[in-house]
Amino acid sequence: MAVPQHRTSKTRKRLRRTHFKLQMPGMVECPQCGEYKLAHRVCLNCGSYKGRTVLNVK
Ligand SMILES: [Zn+2]
Repeated sequence: MAVPQHRTSKTRKRLRRTHFKLQMPGMVECPQCGEYKLAHRVCLNCGSYKGRTVLNVK
């Protein structure tokens, strides 16, 4: 069985884990209202997609 030659220090471990973070996949700003929305999806804030209103919001 493979055994690590050196113990991983607290700092090394923490440095490695700085890359483990939650990501916001494909979030872009809505050109209509500036809210963050998922790319290639209708904006849930103002209901617009590709420059025209698709949903009735408010
Ligand atoms: Zn919007």
